[in-house]
Amino acid sequence: MKITILGNNSALPAFGRHPTAQVVALRSELILIDCGECTQVQMQRYGIRWRGLNYILISHLHGDHYFGLPGLLNSMSLMGRSDPLHLFAPAPLKSILDLILEAAGTVLSFRLHFYPLPEGAGLLVENFSFTISCFPVIHRIDCHGFVVETKQRSRRLLPEKCMELNIPISFYDSLKQGADYTSSTGEVIPNDTVTADPPPTKKYAYCADTVYTDSFLPYITGADAIYHESTYLHNDRDKAEARFHSTALQAAQLAVSAGVGMLLLGHFSSKYKDLYPFKEEAQVVFNNVHIAEEGNVYEL
Ligand SMILES: [Zn+2]
Ligand SMILES: [Zn+2]
Repeated sequence: MKITILGNNSALPAFGRHPTAQVVALRSELILIDCGECTQVQMQRYGIRWRGLNYILISHLHGDHYFGLPGLLNSMSLMGRSDPLHLFAPAPLKSILDLILEAAGTVLSFRLHFYPLPEGAGLLVENFSFTISCFPVIHRIDCHGFVVETKQRSRRLLPEKCMELNIPISFYDSLKQGADYTSSTGEVIPNDTVTADPPPTKKYAYCADTVYTDSFLPYITGADAIYHESTYLHNDRDKAEARFHSTALQAAQLAVSAGVGMLLLGHFSSKYKDLYPFKEEAQVVFNNVHIAEEGNVYEL
């Protein structure tokens, strides 16, 4: 799982930083989380191909999280995309998009499947290799975070070992499921001599705009990494709370409570030019902290 940051700022673009957007890549599958203004430009800049983009998740309807969406959809259509696109977003976005497309007389070249986010938590996507789910956070308007989690794969076959021990190919599927092999002479070959552990599952949680709260802790606990907004530094905690945002220290405290592996900080207020103090502040309580730098790829 790889996370590419396309935008790490809050409402106003500043100091070369853009409004919120990031891409989660799972093999050839791309999931775009939030789509602030300039997202399509940032995708081009950092080599994110539209072709693999099948899912878009929009956390809430503040403009810094979706104003880039009409442009992105329009560009994909102009480029002749034909694969369907699955969009998960607050319900009112459907009529907003319909109006924009209708006013321009635009008929998209692809099927856009719109799924309104549920009121609370819920499973959005499940296939053989991953799930996407959502959970409510606490913001000025309805807002959701998202969890992308890979599924446990079967054991990895070691073909050379299998051939060396004369295990018939017809038994390979059972080996992948963890079975031992018993030969016709009764010799038992333990599974772990001919297979290796599958890659570990990965869990990434995106905690969108939210006031500091542990109300969604159960959804993010044990994640390999979380992205948490830190619009302000802690000396502005009153302002953060009044505007339903968080501070870097609060994000770090939540990372500790959730027992996560890594914390990405983002959604910085345009009042801050230097972002290093965010990392310094969070590191007081949680060690593995990164500023979500635009263009950076974080591999889990
Ligand atoms: Zn925002
Ligand atoms: Zn917001």
